[in-house]
Formats: sequence, C-alpha cells, structure tokens
Amino acid sequence: MGTFKAIRIDKADKGTSVALTQFDEADLMDGDVTVRVEWSTLNYKDGLALTGKAPVVRRFPMIAGIDFAGTVEQSSHREWKAGDKVVCNGWGMGETHLGSYAAKARVKGDWLVRLPDGMSTREAMAIGTAGYTAMLAVLALEKQGLSPSSGPIVVTGAAGGVGSVATAVLSKLGYHVIASTGRLSEAPYLKGLGAAEVIDRNELSGPPKPLAKERWAGGIDSVGSTTLANLLSMTKYGGAIAACGLAAGMDLPSSVAPFILRAVCLLGIDSVMCPMRLREAAWNRLATDLDQTKLSEITHEINLDQVIGEAARILAGGVRGRIVVKIL
Ligand code: NDP
Repeated sequence: MGTFKAIRIDKADKGTSVALTQFDEADLMDGDVTVRVEWSTLNYKDGLALTGKAPVVRRFPMIAGIDFAGTVEQSSHREWKAGDKVVCNGWGMGETHLGSYAAKARVKGDWLVRLPDGMSTREAMAIGTAGYTAMLAVLALEKQGLSPSSGPIVVTGAAGGVGSVATAVLSKLGYHVIASTGRLSEAPYLKGLGAAEVIDRNELSGPPKPLAKERWAGGIDSVGSTTLANLLSMTKYGGAIAACGLAAGMDLPSSVAPFILRAVCLLGIDSVMCPMRLREAAWNRLATDLDQTKLSEITHEINLDQVIGEAARILAGGVRGRIVVKIL
C-alpha cells in the first residue's frame, strides 16, 4: 500500500477547505473492487462540493469527484476481475463515499457498469454524469411515448454539460431541437450540435402563466425554478418534460394546470441512485446514439491540478459542454 494524488475536502473553521494532496491507500473506504482511475470529469455537483457552496459533502475527510472511468486493479466481486474497464456514476461518491479525483477508488462492485464496446475510458468521462443524465432524460421521454414525430423538444441550459449532450443525442435521433441558452454567442456551437433553433433563455425566465401557447412536445430541463414552470406551461397536450437540474434554483413556481388541462407529465430524473438496468441501458445507448465527432467538439481536457480552479466557473455557468479530467 502507498499514497496517491487526490483532491481532498476537509472541514474548516468556516465551511470546508480543499487541496490537491497525497492520500493514503490504507484510508480508502470499504468496497470489494479497487479501480485505477484513468479519467474523471467536472460536473455541476462537483463545483458545489469543491467550493462548499452547497452541503454536498457529508463525510470528512472526503475525496471529491462523483464519477470515474478506469481499470479494475483488484476484485473480490463475482462480476469483476483485474483488467476490466468500468464506469461509475454517483452512488454517493464524493458525498458520503470517497470519490473519483484520485488515482484509486475503492467501491462496491454492484455500482460498476462495464464500459460499452468501442468506448474508451476517456470518452466515457467526456460524457460523464452530465451526459449519462441527458441520456436518462431521453430514455424517460421515449418511455413516455415521445418520438421525433411528436413535435419539437426544448433543451434548457443547452450550452452546459447535460444540455450539450442532450442536444447532440436528440438531433441524431431525428428530433427538432429547440436549444435555450443565456449565451446567444454559443448559437453556432449549438447549431453545430444539431439544434434546429436557438432561443434566448430570457423567454423562459419571466413569471410563468398557468398555461401559455403550446410550443413543444417535450423537454429536457437542467435549470429548474421559473424556467421549468414556463416549460410546463408551454408544453403541448400529452407532452412531457424531464426535469434533471437546478442551475437556476430548486423551487418550482408552477400550477397544476398543465397536468390537469393538458395531460402534461413531469418526469423526474436521478442519476445517483438510478437502478443498474437503466444505467446499463443509458450507457449502451450513449455508445450508439452520441456522435463521437460531436462529443470531441464539446469536450475540453484538464489535469487533476486544474480542477479546483475550474469549480467556480462551472457554477457561474461559464463552462461550455463537458470538461474531462485526466487523472493518470
Ligand atoms: P453546467 O454548468 O455544465 O450546465 C448548466 C447550464 O445551465 C449552464 O451552462 C447554463 O446554460 C444554464 N444556467 C446556469 N445558470 C443558470 C441560471 N441562473 N438561469 C438559467 N440557466 C442557467 O452543469 P451540468 O450540465 O453538469 O448540470 C446541469 C444541472 O443538472 C445542474 O443543476 C446539475 O446539478 C444537474 N444534474 C442533475 C443530475 C441528476 O441526477 N438529476 C445529474 C447531473 C446534473 P446556458 O449558458 O446555455 O444558458
């Protein structure tokens, strides 16, 4: 046993402190699989944990990072052996279980997903939790019966991580995607990902009416608050909105009108405790339904020593697409 590099969060006099430091392997938590982490990523929730802006971390010391892709080093779990390529998202990593901004992670084998054929560990983390969540939202809309012939799909926070992957996947599947962004300068980027229309997020941030003009059959929302309320009020009869984020707030100032007068459905998306069957379905669909060229266009690579510096930028909505973090 030795030490390895890790981003560690500790309790401090005021809030928390964070530093890139050496971590002792003997201090890893229980788990039946030890993984050599090759790539991780920076998600919005990582930004909250690293800056201490929200009480994401509930155990100290904590290694930050909510997802990784890597190679199994040791396993006593029936499913996994040394050399297997795996992906892990959520399950409390970086919150209650030591996380992924580290050269090693020890986790439960039941948490791991096999890397889909043809996908590299770097590509898996270029997708990351944000991209896997976008696919969970697409699967939820499909389960609800939506298809490209149902009508347009709106994607909010479109230039962010969830939004960029959602836009790329939906357009590849043949949907007419309306991308909503606060950064209209990113319109060429969003059109490049396949958005048919780009709208200013201000159109969706005013006081929501119970019902407004029907504009889309469905949506994927990473923003929450008045934006989600406006989305619901503008959804066509029988449509559905998949809610996965809170970039503008956790509240939902809506009314029951869209549900009881237009049979609109609000679909909840959770990536953290998501059942294994659905995780595997999402990762396998990402292998086929996300254009690799578009994935590389939305991806920006950083090293572990740059992660802490990028945390505030993602919370300020300043990151475009996805950040992949090289661990080794
Ligand atoms: P990003 O920061 O990459 O994207 C969020 C985007 O939301 C921004 O790029 C911006 O897009 C928009 N945005 C930011 N602030 C505001 C604001 N005040 N008002 C309106 N729009 C805003 O984050 P991620 O894509 O990683 O995550 C998006 C959300 O989804 C987060 O809230 C995150 O916590 C949540 N999430 C939830 C998961 C789950 O399991 N349910 C899993 C993963 C993420 P633009 O500039 O285009 O307007």
